[in-house]
Amino acid sequence: MKCPRDQTELVVEHTLGVEVDHCPTCNGRWLDFNELDQLESTTGATETERRATIEFGEKPSELDCPVCGKRMRAFNYRAYNLELDTCPEKHGYWLDSGEEGRVRDIINERVRGLERSASAEAAWGGFLDGLKRGGGGLFGRRKR
Ligand SMILES: [Zn+2]
Ligand SMILES: [Zn+2]
Repeated sequence: MKCPRDQTELVVEHTLGVEVDHCPTCNGRWLDFNELDQLESTTGATETERRATIEFGEKPSELDCPVCGKRMRAFNYRAYNLELDTCPEKHGYWLDSGEEGRVRDIINERVRGLERSASAEAAWGGFLDGLKRGGGGLFGRRKR
């Protein structure tokens, strides 16, 4: 898979024990669609609340999906104040350099929240298992 910004071949990188496709040239990152979807599902109790966390921008993205080559859409992930590009075919999300730090914060927050619970380790394991069942694991590749 190639970087949508500069066509550099993406390399698999391990972040917090999970895999993410990383561009060594522009420092951007590609996430499977399900990965952020799962994070998003932790932000609101109801479907309506979850939908309210995403706001699509007026202008299209300047980038093409690295999976299918279609022009992506830029949007604002309001729950975390993140600017992202996403494929209309739901292949995944592109994060420019710097935005990855925000996602790392989100994961850290999630881990801290779980650490507060009595069975933190089990809960975190269950969280990761849930993501894996959802399509390849947090920041990982689909194994199917
Ligand atoms: Zn790049
Ligand atoms: Zn696509």
